[in-house]
Order: sequence, then structure tokens, then C-alpha cells
Amino acid sequence: MTGPNQTPIGTMMCTQNQPTQNVNCLTRKVSFVFYCAPLDESNSMYEAAYGSGDVTHRAITSSASYLNNLPFVVVDADTNQVIYPYNNANGQTAAFGPKVHSNTLHDGARWVHSLPPINIPNHVNRIALHIANDAYQGYRRFQLFPWTVPNSAHCRVNVYELRSDLQERFSDANQLGQSPAENTLAAKPGSADEYYGYLNGDVWLSISHEFTDQEITRLCPPETLSRTAQGGGNTERLDVNWTVVLQPIYGAGVNSRSMAPFNVRIDALGITAKFTERAVANAVYTSNRTTVQQALRRTSPRAFAALLKAAWRVRIDTVDLSSSWRPMLGSRLHKMGVGLDVTHFDDGQENIHFVIRNQGIADRGNAFPASPGGRRLEALYEELRGDPGVSSGAVHTPWRSWVIPHDNHMHITVKFE
Ligand SMILES: [Zn+2]
Repeated sequence: MTGPNQTPIGTMMCTQNQPTQNVNCLTRKVSFVFYCAPLDESNSMYEAAYGSGDVTHRAITSSASYLNNLPFVVVDADTNQVIYPYNNANGQTAAFGPKVHSNTLHDGARWVHSLPPINIPNHVNRIALHIANDAYQGYRRFQLFPWTVPNSAHCRVNVYELRSDLQERFSDANQLGQSPAENTLAAKPGSADEYYGYLNGDVWLSISHEFTDQEITRLCPPETLSRTAQGGGNTERLDVNWTVVLQPIYGAGVNSRSMAPFNVRIDALGITAKFTERAVANAVYTSNRTTVQQALRRTSPRAFAALLKAAWRVRIDTVDLSSSWRPMLGSRLHKMGVGLDVTHFDDGQENIHFVIRNQGIADRGNAFPASPGGRRLEALYEELRGDPGVSSGAVHTPWRSWVIPHDNHMHITVKFE
């Protein structure tokens, strides 16, 4: 995937004492280094802005951002031709590698990813990145950091992921001068061949794919759901047009940046989706302009459809959601709009009210509780695992299929395509 198959540019040997005249022996290389956003807690820049101990404006909570396996490509910004990965004839993307720890930027511990040095072909003047779901062929709409490559052998570009509201403080504290304009790179003061740019929440909003009604119809075509009738007997059937059924979710929160909880009634299924307080805090507080609706619209319809379908089949009538698309917290999954977190559900008819939280580490990986609520969660879990739109093995709970950090919610990953 990443093997350089590029023809060498200069094959002439530039040996000592030989006149080199104007022969260009230079293959330009660019190395990107991504410094992922730190937690807001104990972040001195956050505390300078909002006061020590403030929790109201926190966005990056519980798990600092990291980008392992995030897809990316590098393109010729003028032609949109992919120049990295070098083998890309079939739409291949590259992926961010492992993370290392860094503490050098005065705002807390960050995870850092170094992309491999990328050879820039001689005919290319400007390059740009496509990352996350915007890296997929057919989805490349937003050029990240379009930039004229300097005429030097090897440039380093530092990408600092940070909240939009902290970037001036960040520039000051790290002696970077004036903050670069949105989605641009600037030369790092006092360093040759080093450049930097800010990956803030507003840029993430532009990067991340917003699902259209046509895509909802394609990803979640109309279908007929069925379930066993209560008390046995005939099977109940329900025709569902997901583009219509999901409209109340994708229509919620227009022009709102409120953290208040809100309920979305899905009448067609008799289910209420409850978005908990601060469910969109990461999307909204890391940016200056992201609205609640824009965050919801960046979450795959497959995630909502899979959960609602499973809930309908096992007769759950409310589900509490604590997180959908969020750009700057934890792993790549929620950043790519394919993750959904569920914290609680009810079946009013049978008086089941279940909080999805284990009692401690002994529960991790073990059977669901034997209570009626635990058995209902098991049924929901099995439904989700059997959904063809859900990624294989990607339903995590505080009991079965536990992986860190799922002690207080169930996480679902769906397929992007
Ligand atoms: Zn999750």
C-alpha cells in the first residue's frame, strides 16, 4: 500500500569536485506530524479561558483524541490526483499509524502521530490532505491545508488539533505568532523548513461528511420490519421508509448550540430517542460554529436505523444516546460518524428502566445481568450484532464484548459504506 513506486527524479551522481551546474538533484519530501487534542481537564489554556475547575465548557472529556487507523490521502491540490499512498489506482487510502505520547505543548498530554515522509513529484506545486471519511474515493470534498510546497529537501508540517476557542492562547504560549487563518499553514517562527496549522472543531466540521437524504435512502433502503406479536400469535409487520423515519432526528437542533437534553419522538416506531445533556458537547465546544443539527447530520443513518430497528424488535420504547458524531474525543470511530453510544433504555409496558453500566471490573466480559433489564439488553445486543449494517464484532457493552472504556454505555460501530 505504501511502497514508493515513483521514478527517481535525479539519477545523476553529484560527486565531489564535479560541476553540478543547475541540475536539480532534489526530491522534495514533506512529513506531517499530528498533535492530537489534549483533555480539557487540567489544561492550563482551558483553565485560563474558563477558570480553574470549570466543567461547563468542557468538550474533550474522559479520553484524549487519537487517530490510529484514520484513513488519509495526500493529493495534488490543483488536479486532485492522489500522490500518496503511491499505489492508489483502486482508490486505496493510507492510514495513520501508532500514537506516541508528548507533553511539549504547554496544554497537557497529547497523542502524536507522524505520517511517513511523502515524496512530492516534481510537477506538483501544491498539495493537500483528505482525512477521515473525506479520504474515501467518491467522498473527497474538502482539501485540508492546501499549500504550496516549498522548494526545500524536506519540510515538516505540524498539525495541532485544538479547540477553536483556545487557538490564540495556544499561539501565544507556544510562541507561534499570529494564528494561521482557518485551514492554512504558516511558517513556524525561527525554524527553517517547519510549518504548522490548526485542526480545530470548525475545520473538522468541514472535513466530516454530512449525510444527504439521497445517501440515507441508499444506505438504509425502505424495508419491512417484523417481530413476534406480544403474547405470541401472528407476526407483526411494519413498513419503514428510513429517510422519512429518521427525519425527526436529522431535523433536530437547527441553528442550536444548546447543551440541554432533547427528545426526538419517532412516531412510526413508537420509540423516543433521548439525547442526553451534553451529548453534542464535543462537536459544539471544540468549534465556533457547529450546531446540534450539523453534528447529528454527520452521524451515519445506519447507526440510528440499526439501533431503532433493534429496539423496535425487542420492544424497547426509549433509548438514551450520549454521543454520536464528535470530532475530537477518543478514537477515530465517532470522528468518522460511524459510532453511537447508548446509556439507558426503557420498556414502559413492562416497567423496565435499565442503566447500561456495570458494577465493576468483575462484570467486564461476563454475562449480562439476569434481571429483566439485563435480559432485554442481551436481546438488543444480539439484534445489533446480527444487523448487516453493523460492523462485525463492533458492539461493545459493560458486560459482553467489553473493551476499554465501555463500563457505562453500549457502543455501536456501523459500516460507512
Ligand atoms: Zn462510542
